[in-house]
Amino acid sequence: MYIGHYAAAAALLALVPEPHAAAVVVPVAVGVAWPDLVWPVLVLARREKVTVDPGDPLQRSVRFDAYPLSHSLVLSNLLALIPAIIIALLCRSWLAGALFLVAAISHWLLDLVVHLRDLPVLGFGRHDRKLGAGLWRLPRTAFFAEYLFFAAVVLAVAPPRLFAGVLGGGLLLHLLNANSAFGFTKRNPFGTPTAFAIMTLVGYAAAITWFLMAWR
Ligand SMILES: [Zn+2]
Repeated sequence: MYIGHYAAAAALLALVPEPHAAAVVVPVAVGVAWPDLVWPVLVLARREKVTVDPGDPLQRSVRFDAYPLSHSLVLSNLLALIPAIIIALLCRSWLAGALFLVAAISHWLLDLVVHLRDLPVLGFGRHDRKLGAGLWRLPRTAFFAEYLFFAAVVLAVAPPRLFAGVLGGGLLLHLLNANSAFGFTKRNPFGTPTAFAIMTLVGYAAAITWFLMAWR
């Protein structure tokens, strides 16, 4: 999931007293992306493992073999306490740190809807369970559902003056993912773990930049 994570950002920001202050928008915008910022770094460092089929561009063909540090419910979110505390100290606000942590937790919960059964629960131990409802098995449905979910939440919680920037910019970014849902190309243009990891990192850097600019 990509742009759908920003539905959680919008929903979280609707709950705080000053939803456009940098001290809350930045932690939330980075927090919802956090697992997918950590993951590419760990893939490039060979600490987490992904298999990308160069002959299939669809998201469902990407196999997340092991990513307990970035994408487990328990371990990843315990580790996310570290940046959360740093953010709280930097912003001198426990709310900023708490928002970052809740945003990071929301990432796992939303990933649960689309991922195949590859998301670890604990992130350690021999008998760890892996979960995922697997909406990516229906790539076109997943593609439309993700944007509709994002748009519905934004329309429900954001001030109308933000609709154009948030919904329009979000749509543009979402369309960048279209090949992974519709398979326009025969081959995967990001057909190696390294290329896929870099694409993910660039994608989230773009999403964070967009959200910070649009949510003012
Ligand atoms: Zn993720």
